[in-house]
Amino acid sequence: MQKDKITIFDTTLRDGEQAPGAAMNLREKIALAKSLERLGVDAIEAGFPISSRVDYDAVYQIGAFAKNCVVSALARAKEGDIQAAIDALKKAKRGRVHIFLATSDAHLKYKLKMSREQAKDCAFGAIKFARNFAEEVQFSFEDACRTDHDFLREMTKTAIKAGASIINAPDTVGALLPEETAAMIKAVAEAGEGRATISAHAHDDLGLATANSIAAIAAGARQIECTINGIGERAGNAALEEIAAILATRLSDRYEIGVNTKFISIVSDETARYSGMPKAPNKAIVGANAFSHGSGVHQDGMMKNAETYELFSPELVGAKRAKIVLTRHSGSAAAIAAVKEAGYVAEGDDARRFFAAYKQAAERTKIVSMETIAQIAQSLSLRAYNQA
Ligand code: MN
Repeated sequence: MQKDKITIFDTTLRDGEQAPGAAMNLREKIALAKSLERLGVDAIEAGFPISSRVDYDAVYQIGAFAKNCVVSALARAKEGDIQAAIDALKKAKRGRVHIFLATSDAHLKYKLKMSREQAKDCAFGAIKFARNFAEEVQFSFEDACRTDHDFLREMTKTAIKAGASIINAPDTVGALLPEETAAMIKAVAEAGEGRATISAHAHDDLGLATANSIAAIAAGARQIECTINGIGERAGNAALEEIAAILATRLSDRYEIGVNTKFISIVSDETARYSGMPKAPNKAIVGANAFSHGSGVHQDGMMKNAETYELFSPELVGAKRAKIVLTRHSGSAAAIAAVKEAGYVAEGDDARRFFAAYKQAAERTKIVSMETIAQIAQSLSLRAYNQA
């Protein structure tokens, strides 16, 4: 079966660093961009040049070295913003101007004080202006999630007519359910009639960013906007590592991606460090516990064959399988393996005595250390291997 390519538009350096307290300095942004390029993302949104000197310089410098991916610069639908984006992209081998304009009634009325007709004219003029200098223009409807679909269709046609080749429909406030995302993307894709790449941009306010991104792909989106570790405004953006892992495992028969998933762990750790946003241990794909097993039944299964409780091997995303963590949930298989690893012989009756003592010790603590294992072995006078 012919596979469809899903392009990954990474916005860690723009929407991601808009997370409160996550702003990165120029050196960090450049280092992360190099890692993102090595990871194989198709596009890096490097910043919003009009908004700050650091953003302008980041777009300029990332544009100067990126060879294998598009470098995108954000702009409002204003000539000054677009000019700044174009200037910042001067050195880029493949630059993209990403223009956004709000389209929902609430934003048009209260924020922009524009009618729908005025919004259409504004978008058309802005895209035309950008196309005088830039090959590639992406247009985003800010607050598309709360924009009526007929108006999204009209705006899609207008943006394509003006020269936009990528149309992005963001769920700016993270409000949509997967079926609503699919309906929105379908409306935009139908209006686009195959003349533009349709893109989705989800936020995680309801914990649905990844599910919505996958629903968008099923509805016709072929670009997904996301960030490493899902960092971003409020509850964050769709997490790149989750989308890449889903596409590389469960959906690998239908879609392909340019991302080399083996580099995910490294880039994830770098992003946590540079953004100052540590990962929750139970974070999917990149959390410290993502590949560790706690219960006795699971540990026993894992020691026999990793397929028992792992959907995919941690190597797929460049992670290592965590050593078995010993807790009060652990069973005799893991506890006895640990005492052997500590250098003691525990067979037959000794093994039973050891496990009973282990259970008592484990009741009093969260994680049983190897030091405790050795202490138990000594208190039971188990024979050490080197005494044999
Ligand atoms: Mn966003």
